[in-house]
Amino acid sequence: MKLFPLFADLNGRHVLVVGGGPVAERKVKSLLAAGALVTVGAPDATDALEQWLTQGRIKRLRDVFQPEWLADIWLVVAATDDRGLNRRIAELANAQRLFINVVDDPELSSFQVPSIVDRSPLTIAISSAGSAPVLARRVRERIESLFDHTLGSLAALAARYRPAIRQARPALRPRRDFYDWLLDGPVAAALRQQQPERAEQLLQAELEHPQAPVTGKVLLVGAGPGDPGLLTLKALRALNEADVILYDRLVDGPILELARRDAEQIPVGKIPGEDHNATQARIHRLMLDRAGQGQLVVRLKGGDAFVFGRGGEELAFLRKHRIPYEVVPGITAALACAAYAGIPLTHRDHAQSVRLVTAHCRQDTMLEDWPSLAQAKQTLAFYMGVSQLDWLAEQLIAHGRSGQTPFAIVENGTRSNQRVLHGQLQDMARLARQHAIKAPSLLLIGEVAALAPELEWFGASIHAD
Ligand code: SAH
Repeated sequence: MKLFPLFADLNGRHVLVVGGGPVAERKVKSLLAAGALVTVGAPDATDALEQWLTQGRIKRLRDVFQPEWLADIWLVVAATDDRGLNRRIAELANAQRLFINVVDDPELSSFQVPSIVDRSPLTIAISSAGSAPVLARRVRERIESLFDHTLGSLAALAARYRPAIRQARPALRPRRDFYDWLLDGPVAAALRQQQPERAEQLLQAELEHPQAPVTGKVLLVGAGPGDPGLLTLKALRALNEADVILYDRLVDGPILELARRDAEQIPVGKIPGEDHNATQARIHRLMLDRAGQGQLVVRLKGGDAFVFGRGGEELAFLRKHRIPYEVVPGITAALACAAYAGIPLTHRDHAQSVRLVTAHCRQDTMLEDWPSLAQAKQTLAFYMGVSQLDWLAEQLIAHGRSGQTPFAIVENGTRSNQRVLHGQLQDMARLARQHAIKAPSLLLIGEVAALAPELEWFGASIHAD
């Protein structure tokens, strides 16, 4: 180990920062956050530093560096752009056994400032001993994405109850188990759900009456439209923690590859010949079984679970069976396909509203509001529409939408095989047949679709004429 890791308590201690530029400003900011008494020495200073000075948050020495500045301080940070000066400050500091950090200069520094992940009171510090700051930053980004921001509140709660926990669980082993339960179980979940009082009640109840029965949990997670980069951080965390993943047909390989290696993956898409209700009943049964065994179940759906995803039905079932759940939204196909096709869904000149419509309900409940769907100045996003294109175009035109209204069909949106077909409503069905457009495809109808040829940036596009 080249450097000894150290968390210093600078609260109420004097620290000198030499330099008044943006780099000095960043260092001052984190020193102030740690409660240090900061003096900035420099002839000039940034606006923020000047402001902190007027607010009385820092002191200022308005001069070029003077050796006397090193008296009565605990630490020095040299952040000037003059290497000769930095070296002189370092030499003087070393002679006085003061720890010094020369920004971006490990050779002149006797201490370095790590990259940090801040979940106060929990702080994770990363250092490459100055050899590869870029690598340290990368590691920081990775770790940053792993932990929820409520981890800090959990750490603070654990700290507050530490004496009580020690008292209620004097032996080491049960105490460890208790902390595991605290970090993985319903208390952490309640904090993520922004219900701090409930979190505390759960903690107290468990302390008083140990051995809460193991209950699993279901996370209903939207996986987005296909590009794994469009997963949310929360979705990624869920995939990292899952015991079992129940995934739909629309969720494919690259996303499942991000899951914890030993998580069990079960496809729960419709089996040929099975009807929707049977599929749904099978999914419900699986969730109930697995959560009942104490597993963390991730129910992974394409796009967003609450947009044509039957997410509501699944939650109602879980609620009925008292299985705890959380919901992680995903990027729904309409948003993703529009973005990846260069089609703004609303536009000051062309569309004041967007409607998400399922085209699947022809047999069930006929779409009855054709007159309102056919109105101008709105964008229609049809899901599950490829097999209904003739009928959709006919109805819209029959109810007053112009046959020249632009449309775009985005096939396999956000995936490597994305294709976008453009044209006019009156030619839509013919063009789609001609180019063999298949599901999953999202259909966008409205003036905004005409912007695609100009704004497109991803995948292949097919322009009619
Ligand atoms: N819950 C999903 C929608 C499920 S319905 C969501 O929020 O996106 C299935 C329909 O979504 C498909 O028939 C298609 O119209 C659309 N869809 C889903 N993923 C798509 C993709 N990658 N490209 C184009 N359309 C997609």
